[in-house]
Amino acid sequence: MFNTQTINVTVKGNAAKVHLVSTGIVSVKTKFREARFKGLLAMADFMLEKKFTEWMPIWVMIIEHPEGVFVIDTGENANVNDKDYFKSSGFFANWFDTTQFRFMVESSEEIGPQLQQLNIDIKNVKAVILTHLHLDHIDGLKYFPSTEILVNKYEWEKPYGDLPKLYPSWFKPTLIELNETCDVFDRVKFLTASKDIALIQTPGHTYGHCSVLFKTDDYDIFFAADLCYTQQQFLEKKYAGANCSKKLAQGSYEKVTAYTKAHKTIFIPSHDGDAGRRLKEKIFV
Ligand SMILES: [Zn+2]
Repeated sequence: MFNTQTINVTVKGNAAKVHLVSTGIVSVKTKFREARFKGLLAMADFMLEKKFTEWMPIWVMIIEHPEGVFVIDTGENANVNDKDYFKSSGFFANWFDTTQFRFMVESSEEIGPQLQQLNIDIKNVKAVILTHLHLDHIDGLKYFPSTEILVNKYEWEKPYGDLPKLYPSWFKPTLIELNETCDVFDRVKFLTASKDIALIQTPGHTYGHCSVLFKTDDYDIFFAADLCYTQQQFLEKKYAGANCSKKLAQGSYEKVTAYTKAHKTIFIPSHDGDAGRRLKEKIFV
């Protein structure tokens, strides 16, 4: 439903590639995507609702960079459709994840087969960068048992709404201290020697939620993960129904707005159905 998009870019004059692949599709309650209220009221509002959104992508971004291949998030896997998949996570998580979300994921859409399609050998992946620890961002980890996995230390220490029972047993990420700055952002870590890929804390969805900024020679690509559902929602300053903190989310919107106003930026939220087109056609925020 959401085709893979690939673009060629340059970094410091060297060729690089960016791929956007959707690891299946997801649909959520409409008021989960966009809240009328905040906090518990917002949660009750979407839980009581019956209406689901249209199908949305579950994007994974892959950067073939001169310093190696970086995979940003790992997407969902086909097991999510098994009715017992969430059982080990307890009664509430099982109820929540089987009634508030709908997934459609084929095994061929998982990140492993998709990397193969792109002729990328998993052995050549330098690092997996996780934006946060939610299911549809970590469920492809099973393909990376020997790859370094990078996670914001704060996200690891204070996760929100994660399902640790579904982590692979071997999962021991490298915890990243975000002790650098970049433009308006004050919790940042550059992940390449050339300082063109940065992990940036953009909290609100979770306390340690991160976005990933890729600065190419001509423009920036901002993988916003679950900062918002769509670029439209971000521009209209509307918020999702399940933030850990609306106040933090507002602060993140302000910083990202300031950044994207000052830099030519392609903006890619994880579940934005139009993000592939914007990447391909180089449409800036
Ligand atoms: Zn999330």
